[in-house]
Amino acid sequence: MKAYIYGILDISTIDYPQKPAMVIFVAGCSFRCPMCHNWRMLEVKPDQEVELSRVFERIEKARSFVEAVKVSGGEPTLYPDILLEIANFCKRKNLSFGFDTNGFFPENIKKLVNSADLVSIDIKAPFNDAALYSRLVGLDDGEKVIENLMATLETVFGSSSYADLRTTVIPSLNDEEEYFENIGEVLRGLGYISKAEKKKASYTLQEFEPANAFSHELKKIRPPSLDLLVKLAKSARIPQVYIRHRKVGFMKPLEEIRL
Ligand code: SF4
Repeated sequence: MKAYIYGILDISTIDYPQKPAMVIFVAGCSFRCPMCHNWRMLEVKPDQEVELSRVFERIEKARSFVEAVKVSGGEPTLYPDILLEIANFCKRKNLSFGFDTNGFFPENIKKLVNSADLVSIDIKAPFNDAALYSRLVGLDDGEKVIENLMATLETVFGSSSYADLRTTVIPSLNDEEEYFENIGEVLRGLGYISKAEKKKASYTLQEFEPANAFSHELKKIRPPSLDLLVKLAKSARIPQVYIRHRKVGFMKPLEEIRL
């Protein structure tokens, strides 16, 4: 079986909560988000085709210094069969397995969710603003994107996988308190609270880093302050909220941040 692989990072300490992980970046994505940092991997190129056996060899070599494998991209759920193969290999090798997703393919998520220990899902904007969502994913049909994302969230909340939700906060685009009130309300309605109470779900607000953005326009935006992230995080009014910002590091619990 072949996969489209942009690259592999042998070890990362910021891609899998609490575990050093190998990160496999697949090529290809259904979205064109202006804030994307991984825009070089959005198009699939013929020279990225790799035999999965070579990926397994690489995982085998990394086994002594990682505890998990995370598939990122690009959009990993474009390739459910590949992800299932990697998940099964990780299980045999006693490694945790997770993947990133933009949530656009709920049917593929259903196939994958019970084989993953972790599903990291992007929430780009509030659920009640299809125009803003369209803008932040670079597609016309924001309503469909939101509908599919909600179906994905419902599936992951109903599974045994850890639901690692994230929003990248971009000043002047998605940094209104009312947006996070809406996100919190919708997550509560979809079943987030009971999963969070079991420590199987969390929501992270992360700092936008303009330097690597896909859109030249967004490169001019200043990154959000820690104060802003904390204010917005509180607006969501849900438990298990974390902040990712250069001043506090990777996934700092909201309640531990002193401004
Ligand atoms: S941010 Fe994620 S979903 Fe958006 S274009 Fe980049 S890889 Fe695709």
